[in-house]
Amino acid sequence: MAQKVVSFHYILKDSKGNVLESSHGDDPMSYLEGVGQIIPGLERALAGLGKGDKKSVHVPVADAYGEFDETLVVEVPREEIPKKDVVIGDQFQAEDDAGDPRIVVVTEVTEKTVTVDGNHPLSGQDLNFDVEITDIREATQEELEHGHAHGPGDDHHH
Ligand code: ZN
Repeated sequence: MAQKVVSFHYILKDSKGNVLESSHGDDPMSYLEGVGQIIPGLERALAGLGKGDKKSVHVPVADAYGEFDETLVVEVPREEIPKKDVVIGDQFQAEDDAGDPRIVVVTEVTEKTVTVDGNHPLSGQDLNFDVEITDIREATQEELEHGHAHGPGDDHHH
């Protein structure tokens, strides 16, 4: 069966019902099926839906961004940070143990050290999505070669 590209609007809420993100007012999110472009718990829940379908999806932490991992919070000497006036909230690209790129966020700054956190900002929590499928189409050859969907608003990248 041909791989599909699914587009959807979503509202993402935490377990208390606070809205964390919403795609409404922006382009819908698009993903290529079966490649892990969105979190597994959400992709499983959307499988089999059709254009125009709406669904509320509860994704437990294990199928979302995983538990908060203390070992990803590290204190490094200040001189190792490539920016002089580093402040809390700054983001840097670092490498994880496998050499893969990982975004880390500065969470504490002292005179001699900087603490960075490599956890996904949505780690450690259950997520609730209100989803509306806006389009389902066959993937283009280019998308299959790239291994991801090309959204309507994407400036093409490579
Ligand atoms: Zn591409």
